[in-house]
Amino acid sequence: MSLLEKDKKYVWHPFTQASLSPDLIPVVKAEGVWVIDEKGNKYIDANSSWWTVLHGHGNQQIIDGITKQINSLDHIIFAGATHPKAVEIAERLVELLPGNFSKAFFSDNGSTAIEVAIKMVYQYWHNKSVKKGKFLAIEGAYHGDTFGAMSVGERDFFNKPFEHLFFDVDYLPFPTKENANDVLSLAKKLMAEGNYAGFIFEPLVQGAAGMRIYDAEVLNELIKLAKANDVITIADEVMTGFYRLGTMFALDQIEEEVDIVCLSKGLTGGVMAMGLTITTEAIFEAFKGDDLAKAFLHGHSFTGNPIASAAACASLGVLLTEESKSKVAMISEMHAQICELWKGKKGIRDIGSKGTILRIDVDVDTKASYFSSLRYEAYQYFLENGILIRPLGNVIFVNPPYCISKEELQHIYHHIDLFIERIQKSK
Ligand SMILES: *Cc1c(COP(=O)(O)O)cnc(C)c1O
Repeated sequence: MSLLEKDKKYVWHPFTQASLSPDLIPVVKAEGVWVIDEKGNKYIDANSSWWTVLHGHGNQQIIDGITKQINSLDHIIFAGATHPKAVEIAERLVELLPGNFSKAFFSDNGSTAIEVAIKMVYQYWHNKSVKKGKFLAIEGAYHGDTFGAMSVGERDFFNKPFEHLFFDVDYLPFPTKENANDVLSLAKKLMAEGNYAGFIFEPLVQGAAGMRIYDAEVLNELIKLAKANDVITIADEVMTGFYRLGTMFALDQIEEEVDIVCLSKGLTGGVMAMGLTITTEAIFEAFKGDDLAKAFLHGHSFTGNPIASAAACASLGVLLTEESKSKVAMISEMHAQICELWKGKKGIRDIGSKGTILRIDVDVDTKASYFSSLRYEAYQYFLENGILIRPLGNVIFVNPPYCISKEELQHIYHHIDLFIERIQKSK
């Protein structure tokens, strides 16, 4: 049996309707921006392997970090023990993050980082004997696929079968230039009445909703309102962190400080699974006392895994070099230029960029949705041209590894251009 045949026989893939799914790419190797299949076909990893692989594949510093770690300490229980790399990544991130952060809690992925944040918020109020039930979130949000994370996300066909199990959440409309004032007055009204435990948001860019960009000013005001009403703020930086938006964190682009930040995806350079929930000392304090029941009784087998921690330390090292920063600046600049160039172009309904993310909302006759056939058509077209892009509905987006070259970016733009022309012709 071939790899693909065996896969079909034994494997269940994520976010995939097996009956409709196009052929899988049998990947055997990846190097820099390139993904290579068993026949030797090469594809540019234009979405950084689900938005994770920051520096490209096979980064030598990360390989060295992992190798050194695995040869000294592979895994250790994280309750009752600690180790150098977990402490190092916690210290470095607490120091780097803007605001008043103090403690890092480790888990395994973005969803668990969010789950931990939500549980911390509920238990914080519980420990203080304050009754607060609801969460406030933003329409279109995606915070992960576990129950708490689904509860605060957009309620749609993705989580319909589970909806009756979710806790109470109110949603603010996604803020745009046009409705910003309305969103703020609604937020003001809701926060005054709602008795919210927490307010969760993806800062400045909603990822899974189609890389939707919104203004720092409105977010700043929302956080101010939350603070004024004693609502704990959670910034979901799972996608936006680590220079994805041009600055180390999205939070670097706003003035207000938040209470909790969640990190994952690029945290280890996309090489190992790890999530972090980082909080202020004020939150941590509420869990201290003589009573075990007051503690945060949560953990995973692989909490604080040393190899993942080493990968995160190495990735941060790479990220802080001048070379990485100049690559991020180069990508951001090229994205901004192509936005200028393509603004108002036929076949493009909307185009925008934020840091290293470029989004193109392609004008098709059907209503934009995740199920749009455009995503299948686009996916196939780009594959045939050596580019791995997985659109979100009608939105084609590029968030490449930072090691990409100008020529490789231009190659991607060129094929997006050709694809949009093709769609125009076929309409
Ligand atoms: C991907 C993502 C998550 C979930 O992370 P997983 O590691 O896939 O569980 C949560 N929030 C945001 C903003 C994300 O993009």
